[in-house]
Amino acid sequence: MASYYDDHSLEDPFKARKKTNNSYGGSSFNPDLSHFMPREETESTSSSPSSRSPSASGPDVGDFRRLAEMFGAFREREEPLGDEAHQEFLDNLITQLMDEAGASGKHGPPPAAKSFIRDLPFVPQKDLKRDEACIICNENFQENDSKAGVTKLPCKHHFDRECIVPWLELHNNCPACRAEVPSDDPEWNRKRREAELAKYAAEAEIDQDWMYS
Ligand SMILES: [Zn+2]
Ligand SMILES: [Zn+2]
Repeated sequence: MASYYDDHSLEDPFKARKKTNNSYGGSSFNPDLSHFMPREETESTSSSPSSRSPSASGPDVGDFRRLAEMFGAFREREEPLGDEAHQEFLDNLITQLMDEAGASGKHGPPPAAKSFIRDLPFVPQKDLKRDEACIICNENFQENDSKAGVTKLPCKHHFDRECIVPWLELHNNCPACRAEVPSDDPEWNRKRREAELAKYAAEAEIDQDWMYS
């Protein structure tokens, strides 16, 4: 069966996601989410002041919940259209966000670097396919002239700027393919440097074996 992604020579984010060893990938939609986002209170919740203490610098539980609510609204809007693959994609993101909210953001990836978010490129309409949609909200880019514009991540996935920025403020990866982007988090950068050094060391060892064999 040909899918949207086959027709548009894009990497299918749903297939790509399954390749990654993502602990959230296999979990099903958490019906308890409705508990956190009662329909009548969604607006007042999202406009309520942050509960973050003035001294804390990282994202707080409310940031994860608010983004889960935003994605939940996309999902609800889409319900009658029945794009099951996209609904499952959103369900997995919502489940991840609620898990992260439960762990106060300690278990997930760090936020993307502030400079990375600031310097996200603008993708002009001419570079977009005619019926291409934002991976997060599933709305056609051509029908959204009034929005803040379209951007792309280094993995080349396209998003509405207003859909991807709140995600990047909480995660330094692409929500579709999980490719990592830079972070300001010192712990994440330290681990990344260590992994790179280990890789170079392993490569140097292979070179040596080759030279003396
Ligand atoms: Zn969008
Ligand atoms: Zn991607």
